[in-house]
Amino acid sequence: MPIYEYRCQECKKDFECLVFRNQEPEGCPSCSSSKVSRIMSACGFVSKGGGGETVSSSASVGSSCGGCSASSCGGCGH
Ligand SMILES: [Zn+2]
Repeated sequence: MPIYEYRCQECKKDFECLVFRNQEPEGCPSCSSSKVSRIMSACGFVSKGGGGETVSSSASVGSSCGGCSASSCGGCGH
């Protein structure tokens, strides 16, 4: 069962909601507002933070290697 993250537009609170058959949550559990938007979790990019250097997702576009900043994976053996 998929769990989606939502953010309330009124009180800016994030909450998770178990979604059945694309049924949207009825509203914010905190303030009952119906102005909630689903947050797309960036599960495609996970920064390992190997050298203490933060690699942004935009900088890694075009690189197939997540472990180093090289444009090819010859440098880190991935
Ligand atoms: Zn709310």
